[in-house]
Amino acid sequence: MIVAIDGPAATGKSTSAKLVARKLGFTYMDTGAMYRCVTLSVLRGHISLTDEQAIKLLLKDVDIQIEMIEDALIVRLNNEDVSMLIRKPKVTSHVSAVSALPQVREHMVTIQRQIGENKDCVIEGRDIGTIVFPNAKFKFFLVADDFVRAKRRQLDLKAIGEEKSIDDLVEEIRRRDTYDSERSHSPLKKADDAIELDTSQLSIEEQVDFMVNRVKNY
Ligand code: C5P
Repeated sequence: MIVAIDGPAATGKSTSAKLVARKLGFTYMDTGAMYRCVTLSVLRGHISLTDEQAIKLLLKDVDIQIEMIEDALIVRLNNEDVSMLIRKPKVTSHVSAVSALPQVREHMVTIQRQIGENKDCVIEGRDIGTIVFPNAKFKFFLVADDFVRAKRRQLDLKAIGEEKSIDDLVEEIRRRDTYDSERSHSPLKKADDAIELDTSQLSIEEQVDFMVNRVKNY
């Protein structure tokens, strides 16, 4: 069974999706982390986003492994632990442009379908309920107020030793949402049959309970 959790940046998807997966005993997949790994590789290789051949070769060489160890999500890119590096501002500011490339999306969606196939999985991203698993049994679309989202992102960044003002973060979040929503290939969009949840005033526990109860009471 697939539980799809989509929505714009910093709406509480990652934190709540991990806990929903744990409470249900399902596998957790963070597709944003996968796009972030590809972006890190592109930046390291100084690859131009218009160089289709170079992107194709890079995708062939990229091996991404994601694993939950207790509460921590460990992301390995070609056996290197990049869990912290992929959250750095440089990756965040380039990830939407890399994710908009059709070749990147096609490659990632194929991998995501392979991982989720015939499994009980909570999958978090932007296009899970619309493109990756349009037949997912449960679809949630999380939204939240821009200021609340910026505040959450500020705390996430603090945890990895980075500082940014709320104004800068509001601008960055809006820019990323616009880019993600307006790209031509699988844009960020609520699936018609997704349940929308505004997390602005909700604690993580309330978000998690809302989703878990929906699944359990089905
Ligand atoms: O969720 P997170 O903020 O880590 O996602 C980083 C970026 O990856 C998003 O802003 C978006 O550009 C891209 N993404 C995507 N499709 C997904 C998941 C993430 O395009 N399914």
